[in-house]
Amino acid sequence: MRETRLGAHDFILPLFVSEKAEKRRPIPSMPGVFQFSLNEIADEARRAQDLGLQAILLFGIPEKKDEQASSAYAENGVVQKALRMIKAKCPELVAITDVCLCQYMSHGHCGVTRIDGDHFHVLNDETVDLLVRMALSHATCGADLVAPSDMMDGRIGAIREALDASGLNETGILSYAAKFASVFYGPFREAAESPPQFGDRRSYQMDCANAEEALREVALDVDEGADIVMVKPALPYLDVLWRVHERFGKPTAAYHVSGEYAIIKAAVEKGYLDERAAVFEIMTALKRAGADIIVTYWARELAEWTRS
Ligand SMILES: [Zn+2]
Repeated sequence: MRETRLGAHDFILPLFVSEKAEKRRPIPSMPGVFQFSLNEIADEARRAQDLGLQAILLFGIPEKKDEQASSAYAENGVVQKALRMIKAKCPELVAITDVCLCQYMSHGHCGVTRIDGDHFHVLNDETVDLLVRMALSHATCGADLVAPSDMMDGRIGAIREALDASGLNETGILSYAAKFASVFYGPFREAAESPPQFGDRRSYQMDCANAEEALREVALDVDEGADIVMVKPALPYLDVLWRVHERFGKPTAAYHVSGEYAIIKAAVEKGYLDERAAVFEIMTALKRAGADIIVTYWARELAEWTRS
């Protein structure tokens, strides 16, 4: 009689790989989440596959940052190296890569910036050119899907066109179609070492008050060729998730973000909540609200819990 059931295939595990780490480094605000070294990342991906997970979402932390994010599309960039090793070790595992420049930019913004006096601008088209290079580079190294998380205009179409022109038409696009400017990203920035050094991201992420605008953003990405559309964060945006799923009928993803994770972990640590029950309820709600797939830091545990 149960309408909504969870299984390992519902979940995507985010993995952080750092060029600077010799061995795994815990992220204090996200208990159980690590930055992995390049030596460990393929084994970690393999462990995810052995647990029954079908997909990972890979984020890179580069050694060097600059104002053109050049390590983001370098042939031997951290994600490029990690992808080759992961694909050699577990070719069946779906490798999705984050495509955004903030981790690779010395200023921590998601795009090329220009400063005029005390204002700064993120330059859309210059940024899209670099995102295209990054996506192509990931696809060439074996990414099954690229996941642009930047929210620049026109980037899905530009990436789709460039992939097709390079014979990479099998590479899909998971678009962060409705990404809200959110306080719940805080711990992630610690994990990915990507806080902006000045200003904030409100000029290119959406206002949490705007659901209609979210639908317009999703419509653009669908028109431009997104294969999967994602809503981020997850739990505070169940209404958006539901509307996206209903309106577009596309495979829809939800990203249960770092702050959402940290809240539960902190409550569990204090003995206020039962972790497993809380996580099941949240994930069931996300799926019920229209998420076909859920990106979550609990993916490993969920793979085990849903088996028993
Ligand atoms: Zn970014």
